[in-house]
Amino acid sequence: AEAHLTAIEGAGALNAFVHHTPDIARAQAAAADTRIKAGDAPALCGIPIGVKDLFCTKGVPSQAASRILQGFKPEYESTVTTQLFGAGAVMLGKLNMDEFAMGSSNETSTYGNAINPWRAGNSDAALTPGGSSGGSASAVAARLCLGATGTDTGGSIRQPAAFTGTVGIKPTYGRVSRWGIVAFASSLDQAGPMTRTVRDSAIMLGAMAGHDPKDSTSADLAVPDFEAMLTGDIKGQVIGVPREYRMDGMPEEIDTLWQDGIEMLRDAGAEIRDISLPHTKYALPTYYVIAPAEASSNLARYDGVRFGHRADIGQGDGITEMYEKTRAEGFGPEVQRRVMVGTYVLSAGFYDAYYNRARKVRALIKKDFDDVFAAGVDAILTPATPSSAFELGSMADADPIEMYLNDVFTVTVNLAGLPGVAVPTGQDRKGLPMGLQVIGKPWEEGALLNVAQCLE
Ligand code: GLN
Repeated sequence: AEAHLTAIEGAGALNAFVHHTPDIARAQAAAADTRIKAGDAPALCGIPIGVKDLFCTKGVPSQAASRILQGFKPEYESTVTTQLFGAGAVMLGKLNMDEFAMGSSNETSTYGNAINPWRAGNSDAALTPGGSSGGSASAVAARLCLGATGTDTGGSIRQPAAFTGTVGIKPTYGRVSRWGIVAFASSLDQAGPMTRTVRDSAIMLGAMAGHDPKDSTSADLAVPDFEAMLTGDIKGQVIGVPREYRMDGMPEEIDTLWQDGIEMLRDAGAEIRDISLPHTKYALPTYYVIAPAEASSNLARYDGVRFGHRADIGQGDGITEMYEKTRAEGFGPEVQRRVMVGTYVLSAGFYDAYYNRARKVRALIKKDFDDVFAAGVDAILTPATPSSAFELGSMADADPIEMYLNDVFTVTVNLAGLPGVAVPTGQDRKGLPMGLQVIGKPWEEGALLNVAQCLE
């Protein structure tokens, strides 16, 4: 823990940690020492981790990287962090992210963006660590912690993992409790680990997962020993390669990476099968209707009364002006855009045309996956991202939709509620890490991680 606290101090320029908790870390590390001496060392005993700012941590600022939650220190601890601490983990601090987890480059954060520790060739240009869990990815890649929590609503664990050469898994919807995690889009949100290796992810996921009566969508299923399922044996397994993920204009190096991944799994004894997921092209627009709709509802609670920031109001201003000013000051431009889009698609006149239509398409996207799994496919291999990490600031003047295109390979998995893992499998011609995604059957994270490990 001390070594990591020192490393964090020296790596302030990465802007990965936004709240430091050395006192908590030292107390937890001392408690871990005592448990180890007593011969009672659980899975993560003494392991230093970082926690995404989206998780409520008792008495510690938990701001979701938003100005509107400035000064908010929860009275309670999220279920995930409670379980991690129970398993002996040591919290070094809170990690940077996009505001309310909305973004793909960490540039919507009220703290300013985190930076990717990787550089392209000899270039000095700072690169994005991805988003929204960019601080988590940066911290793990820079060796500032051994693992970090992330959350993934449309790719926010897997895209930053791919951009930083780290491993990240979004579990099956319902595998990990959402209680105490600031809600973005509740039917899509899942927390998961971000680590250096697949094995570390298996261990950390085991500690995070499990039924929680405080989250009615968490599944009442036993959590298997994911680590024990990493046998390295995938002989005879059927790996689907969906033709719809071969996008027009996809960089050749992403295609090469994908082909190399296919060969690795074939060499390990898997049967490779060409499959079709016909509704893939509708996933991105469907996601960008459903996610803002749910966000606009979830974010209604930030009203200047219950949490964090409240605007100064003038003489004669009433409660409406207080709400308006607080929300105008407290939410950044991307969050405001999502609230507006979400409110629009849920409004009486447009509900059927947008929100209801998106829900129907979502069911078709899920059915595509159900059909290929029913036809004997065990897991699906795709690229994780359409490119490697891009330069910070390079999208500043772009249409917001350009940024949304980053999520093209990842949002399907959230819409269908499936587990998906990003694993680093190669480098681009500038030496930047690139990752592949493996998508698994519901509740089969162990088997999924076992396939992913064959790609490491
Ligand atoms: N980049 C996507 C978005 O902005 C995904 C975010 C996430 O998974 N939290 O909505």
